[in-house]
Amino acid sequence: MTVRTTCPYCGVGCGVLATPDGQGGLTVQGDPDHPANRGRLCVKGAALGETVATQGRLLTPRVAGAQATWDSALDLVADRFTDAVAQHGPDSVAMYVSGQLLTEDYYVANKLMKGFLGSANIDTNSRLCMASSVAGHRRAFGSDTVPGLYEDLELADLVVLTGSNLAWCHPVLHQRLMAARAARPQMRIVVIDPRRTATCEGADLHLAIAPGADAHLFNLLLCHLFDTGRISADFLPHVAGLDAALTAARRADPTATGLDPRDVAAFLDLWALTDRVVTVYSQGINQSDTGTDKVNAILNCHLATGRIGRPGMGPFSVTGQPNAMGGREVGGMANMLACHLTLEDATHRDAVAGFWNAPRMADRPGLKAVDMFRAVEEGRIKALWIIHTNPAVTMPEADGVARAIAACDFTVVSEAWPDTDTARLADVLLPATAWGEKDGTVTNSERLISRQRAALPAPGQARPDWWAVAQVARRMGFRGFGWTEPAQIFAEHAALSRVAGALGSDFDISDLAGADYEAMQPVHWPQGPAQRGGRFFGTGRFHTPDGRARMVPVVAQVPDHPVGRMLLNTGRTRDQWHTMTRTGLSPRLARHLAEPYLQLHPGDAARLGLAAADLAQVDSPQGRAILRVMISDGCAPATPLPRSIGAGRPHPPGASTRWWRGRSIPSLASRPASRQR
Ligand code: SF4
Repeated sequence: MTVRTTCPYCGVGCGVLATPDGQGGLTVQGDPDHPANRGRLCVKGAALGETVATQGRLLTPRVAGAQATWDSALDLVADRFTDAVAQHGPDSVAMYVSGQLLTEDYYVANKLMKGFLGSANIDTNSRLCMASSVAGHRRAFGSDTVPGLYEDLELADLVVLTGSNLAWCHPVLHQRLMAARAARPQMRIVVIDPRRTATCEGADLHLAIAPGADAHLFNLLLCHLFDTGRISADFLPHVAGLDAALTAARRADPTATGLDPRDVAAFLDLWALTDRVVTVYSQGINQSDTGTDKVNAILNCHLATGRIGRPGMGPFSVTGQPNAMGGREVGGMANMLACHLTLEDATHRDAVAGFWNAPRMADRPGLKAVDMFRAVEEGRIKALWIIHTNPAVTMPEADGVARAIAACDFTVVSEAWPDTDTARLADVLLPATAWGEKDGTVTNSERLISRQRAALPAPGQARPDWWAVAQVARRMGFRGFGWTEPAQIFAEHAALSRVAGALGSDFDISDLAGADYEAMQPVHWPQGPAQRGGRFFGTGRFHTPDGRARMVPVVAQVPDHPVGRMLLNTGRTRDQWHTMTRTGLSPRLARHLAEPYLQLHPGDAARLGLAAADLAQVDSPQGRAILRVMISDGCAPATPLPRSIGAGRPHPPGASTRWWRGRSIPSLASRPASRQR
């Protein structure tokens, strides 16, 4: 029987029709009725059926490397967590979870940690991909709310992609954008990226910006909007902080962008003169030590012009993982409560504690991902539970993280595979269900909640993550973890959102609490007419105490680095996912790029004596890697770098900034200002 489910990879959240082949495998098609993809799948999604083999799976719990029963493993986990809390306090335990978790898994883990163990030491690998967006949203909007919808990319007259290789990282959304532009050729697309990526091939303009200089460019834009009279007089009463943001923005340095001033001027004019603008950003903005400021530099421009929360307008953060958004909704990060409520707010905490009947509520933010593993390294975390993620590979300074996990007094790892770098370090290894066997919900980048349904039986003794966490909670003597199926957890989560809604949270899905879970169709939140068809903030009402948005003063910076060293950038490959524990099973997916690579400009390769396909060792203060050399003029020459890039110091000439497809922008420049609000 064909099962309607969702793809487990990126934040586009495509609907999938999965049909068991009767031999343990699946055939997979795009779901034509799913609003995110309307039948499309990218190559990763299309290859899902090749990744469900159970050969090599973890099929039973293991304790100290030896096969164990679930009962003995769960008893041990409960005992060790109980002992740690009793001897060293609640902050001596931690959970590190994943945007791969279903919302129900996330909800249960968050409830146990924050409401019953009394610590907010639960963080997620989503921290690494979009915590900057969360913080930027909260600073500007008073809540972590994505204002727009995917269809805004299709309705816009200008789509700006910055720090986003959409063609590779969110392929189906990119396909939708390309189809929209084919239907409306007047739509413009600008890509801002130090590298000439695949996304540039569909763009009108590629701005090969100096690495990390995005805030300079958007601060220049804010100044340009003000200087050319494009600030929205209608929307400005809904926004505070223009003067301070503008004062900070005036310090932006055009030369720091490394761009031709004529290209910068063309971009500023295009953005200023186009009413329907969507600015899409992703990991290239978020994964930065100034990522939150970069986010706010973008949001400032949309707030100043009122281009937010209306069709074809708005800033748009696309999430990397399938359920990064669901994790945000349940408050599955160290500095969040549930349902977009605030951990630091005693009223909010009391409301959640009352709903959960929680005996010991965390009252302050816990350790975020990097700090959490530092605490593990320093011996402050005595019991650690890692669920569905591989931090020994994926965390910054991964070797140190691996050593820290190995040295931790007690580490539990919930995994589908026994031989990941992190699983090998576990004291207790719990066999988890994988995609194809999991049952629950996920929320994609545009706040669309979809069901993920099981199409295959769980192999061996693999069990859902929510079940394992609930079992441990019960063994620790806690009430409120007695669910027998995910529908009950979702109903509780939805009911809690009614409490949150009464406190002013925008996340209120309580009308779904009594929904037929099995038959549930993809649904956007919110549903109310006040939100203009599922968008937020178009009416100028924000979640701050006075209801006004905040423009944040951003002093733009660029990354500094030692003299004479190359500044490297990171990116994703199109057909692999995370540490390849799943996509690595598909030979088809390996055909695109078989291994990680080091992309070098031809000039740098010649200077270093490297030829295509050579192996190069890359050292940095953070670590070392040996990578296959790929030579391309799609990236800027990294040398000569006589000194740090900084204000007033030109970036070396970048990859070519060019107009694509021979189209010119000036026709837009003649657009009358009256089109502005
Ligand atoms: S675009 Fe993302 S969600 Fe859609 S099929 Fe591809 S990887 Fe899966």
